[in-house]
Amino acid sequence: VDWEEGALYMLQEQEAQAAELERTFIAIKPDGVQRGLISEIISRFERKGFKLVAIKIVVPSKDFAQKHYHDLKTRPFFDGLCDFLSSGPVVAMVWEGEGVIKFGRKLIGATDPQKSEPGTIRGDLAVVVGRNIIHGSDGPETAKEEVNLWFKPEELVNYTSNAEKWIYG
Ligand code: ADP
Repeated sequence: VDWEEGALYMLQEQEAQAAELERTFIAIKPDGVQRGLISEIISRFERKGFKLVAIKIVVPSKDFAQKHYHDLKTRPFFDGLCDFLSSGPVVAMVWEGEGVIKFGRKLIGATDPQKSEPGTIRGDLAVVVGRNIIHGSDGPETAKEEVNLWFKPEELVNYTSNAEKWIYG
């Protein structure tokens, strides 16, 4: 009985850990898609060791874009930004891994590509702030909110990658 209890406990722990794996919402904006940068961007997250758990290509409505950017609704560029996000296909993704929210932001680089470091996605591939090709959640709360806005729970895929033991040891 003790063994059974122990085994059950271990299983519940594993499930809890799996449930708490960090996830972030990443979107390739219409400029990134039109410029043929989908695979380039995906490959940077993939090579780092992060795991893709959801992906789709969609043209968001303006109303949806406004929901996504609701935090910025008082900013002067809000309307143009929402028009732009809804102007064409967007590749919406959820990436998973230790520290993926913060490190995802590092991979992306500063909001203004003039200020993002070379080596970052925006630093290497974009020039102006209004066409900075990619979005990434800026913290744990927005990550949850954005994943839930863009994806239904059943669109997120739980799986074990064989590379994990080589990435995490
Ligand atoms: P980030 O995308 O780096 O999280 P913000 O949340 O501050 O940055 O802004 C959201 C998006 O709004 C930016 O990625 C950019 O496309 C656009 N944006 C931000 N500042 C400006 C600006 N001054 N002029 C035009 N567009 C802007």
